[in-house]
Amino acid sequence: MFNRRSFIKKSALFTSVLGLQPLFGKANSSVGFVPQGKPTLLATWNHGLQANAAAWQVLQSGGSIVDAVEAGVRVPESDPENTSVGLGGLPDRDGRVTLDACIMEPGGNCGGVAGLEYIENPISVARKVMTETPHVLLVGDGALQFALEQGFTRKNLLTPKAEQAWKEWQKTSEYKPIINIENHDTIGLLAQDAHGNLAGACTTSGLAFKMHGRVGDSPIIGAGLFVDNEIGGATATGMGEAVLKIAGSHTVVELMRQGYAPEEACKEAVKRIIKKDPNYNNIQIGFLALRKDGATGGFALQKGFNYALMISANQNKLVDASYMLS
Ligand code: ASP
Repeated sequence: MFNRRSFIKKSALFTSVLGLQPLFGKANSSVGFVPQGKPTLLATWNHGLQANAAAWQVLQSGGSIVDAVEAGVRVPESDPENTSVGLGGLPDRDGRVTLDACIMEPGGNCGGVAGLEYIENPISVARKVMTETPHVLLVGDGALQFALEQGFTRKNLLTPKAEQAWKEWQKTSEYKPIINIENHDTIGLLAQDAHGNLAGACTTSGLAFKMHGRVGDSPIIGAGLFVDNEIGGATATGMGEAVLKIAGSHTVVELMRQGYAPEEACKEAVKRIIKKDPNYNNIQIGFLALRKDGATGGFALQKGFNYALMISANQNKLVDASYMLS
């Protein structure tokens, strides 16, 4: 699956990468951003279409922006056919389905869970962490204990399909993340309501067949998701280790604060990953950004990342993100 590139091509790439210039370089500041007066939803991969539709419905029924992002990502979480999120997610190398999620609301409050087992909708537990505890992140057994105390139902999340894939993997036990393996991975959903308020949610089963205990970017505020209601929000998908190393989503938001347009902010974050990660050729990263004025953008390291953009009841479409390596 990996594109092998010649040394010359890599050198040329690095030359251009090292000559980093922000295309929309200088500070616009947040002053002058005019929320556009209608909701905007932006979600990773093709499962973003269903997530957006559910979130839109919540907003139309008078739900809050946090209700909307939670309801949106619960759809792929509860889809047993979706092997990268929630129920049916591919397990770790020990055969355990461990889930990561986080949520952030316009006021800056946030909550997350990591390594959570047996709960179909980790995003809803993350929301409870945000609203019912003084903490931001609960992990592993503690997260499960909290979820059960909150009334969540314990259930086996390892579907026959995921178990079969794990058994296949055990034949070689090779740890080799594959770019865009099923054209969907983490679901990250960014949303803006008609008043201009922003929220986001991010949820995943993480890398397939990861080490038990491995946590990626997705439940980490600032890495897999970040929302600043004055500036905008960002979310990430792909190799979590690379996103963590540059605090990816926070970086994208801060770049927008400096005046970068959403797509350019995502592109600059991808460039930073290329500079820091010698393995960049073999991984995929995708960022999405939603700015306070309703402008949106996405950018990926490799070809193949798409996202769902919804701006009206009958306009929910997939967009192919621009990318760095070809
Ligand atoms: N970012 C997720 C992780 O590293 C995986 C993904 O988006 O595919 O856990």
